[in-house]
Amino acid sequence: MNTQVGTVTLVGAGPGDPGLLTRAGAEAIARAEVLVYDHLIQSRLLDLAPLSADRVFAGKQRGRCPVPQDEINAMLVRFAREGKAVVRLKGGDPYVFGRGAEEAEYLIAHGVPFRVIPGVTAGVGATSYAGIPVTHRDATSAVAFITGHNEPGDPSDRIDWPALARFPGTLVFYMGFRHHAAICATLIRLGVAPSTPAAIVCNGSTALQRTVSGTLATLADVVAAAGPGIGSPALLVVGQVVSRREPLAWFERLPLFGRSIVVTRPIGESDRSASDLEALGAEVLIAPTVQILPIDDHAPMDDAIDRLPSFDWLVFTSGNGVRYFLDRLESRGRDLRALGHLKLAAIGPATAEALARYRLRADLVPDSFRSEGLAEALVPRVSGKRVLLARADRGRMILQEQLAPIAHVEQIPVYRNADADTLPADVLDCLERGSVDWITLTSSAITARLHTLLPESARSRIASGFIRLASISPVTSEAARRLGWPIAAEATEHTWPGLLRSLIGVETGQQNH
Ligand code: SAH
Repeated sequence: MNTQVGTVTLVGAGPGDPGLLTRAGAEAIARAEVLVYDHLIQSRLLDLAPLSADRVFAGKQRGRCPVPQDEINAMLVRFAREGKAVVRLKGGDPYVFGRGAEEAEYLIAHGVPFRVIPGVTAGVGATSYAGIPVTHRDATSAVAFITGHNEPGDPSDRIDWPALARFPGTLVFYMGFRHHAAICATLIRLGVAPSTPAAIVCNGSTALQRTVSGTLATLADVVAAAGPGIGSPALLVVGQVVSRREPLAWFERLPLFGRSIVVTRPIGESDRSASDLEALGAEVLIAPTVQILPIDDHAPMDDAIDRLPSFDWLVFTSGNGVRYFLDRLESRGRDLRALGHLKLAAIGPATAEALARYRLRADLVPDSFRSEGLAEALVPRVSGKRVLLARADRGRMILQEQLAPIAHVEQIPVYRNADADTLPADVLDCLERGSVDWITLTSSAITARLHTLLPESARSRIASGFIRLASISPVTSEAARRLGWPIAAEATEHTWPGLLRSLIGVETGQQNH
């Protein structure tokens, strides 16, 4: 038995946007052996843990009771005593209405070492994304965080309401959605001006963020009129700062704000793609349909590396090809000088960029970033030459076919594409609930695999255009159309940035109508 006690790290996950996790938090998750996480934690954060880590849900599921606090405490101690590195991931900040201190005190009482990594609390993060500064030199020099869990006047309510009514600053109520009308009425009754600006911010910093505002006197009616988009988790914010919201609500004005987008690219490529979309205001769900893996048999690549002097051109059709080939070159004890005599071709800018990261400049990048474009650009240059194609174990054969009549072409697999067996549970859940707006498609193989993995309900939502598809190229679009799926946006330039531009074009075009 492992006698060494592990450590428990209480990590604040921030209010929603996965980008608001701290670096220390990300590092702790990356080293976790067990991750005990709450309700509302984005799966993007769980993905930061090693694949081998145990992921234990300790929150409240729809329609079910939350896991009792005693059980969570006992679980943390048990995992730590097994010698595990435990991360306890909590929404917002662990100590702000998060019961983090109770967990830490329990750990102390049981001799378990712990650390706390603060997080961006909703009262600061969600308000900020909604355009409400909690303090302002010209308006408010103080801010109070208050629980609105209990109804004012209820026996379990321990808030000193007369003191709050005199508080000279912004009031931020957590867990206050249910009782917002009673809270506003209580403050008015205790002498706060009914014209004091007030707002409800729900699901702050996510695609579901909604903000409604009014005054203490009108807020309850505004909320009632706003309908079902307004609900928990929500903050009630009361104070003059609320009136400054309009020009400061930057997040709600981002071009993809409120959009939920599924990225189907392989792990490794999906992270950057997700960040691009998040920077535009979208919420991203990652659903890798294909995995990129090392090839099983390295012999053909090793053999080609040993024979590099006999080639004239080295052609890459993806950034993965560049990475796997050049890393293998290095592990064979060679370096970039082995490529000195070769001309290099890249299928598009992303592949050229992968080469640039190795300080290599592509001699040829075609104007059209598809196999046809690359073949066309190569044909006049490679007549009678020896061409090495470094590529995936599967994919389109067009390059080989078009060059073979005029050049000596050798094609070697340098990495492997493997199909995913299933889509992540959270993605399936969102598809089921109909809360996905877009799916991005970056190859025909990905499109085909996605079709296989999707439940029938989601397939037909795509077919009827409820979920829209953004495609990287005509070849990918054609693969989708063959499956009966319409394409809502197609990249003019066949790259990821091109795809983003076309998607934004469709979104902003529609907003103008
Ligand atoms: N520890 C958390 C708070 C937990 S209590 C933190 O520091 O943020 C749960 C309450 O937090 C919710 O009822 C809601 O009032 C608030 N909350 C959490 N996430 C939120 C979000 N994204 N938008 C608005 N309010 C949020």
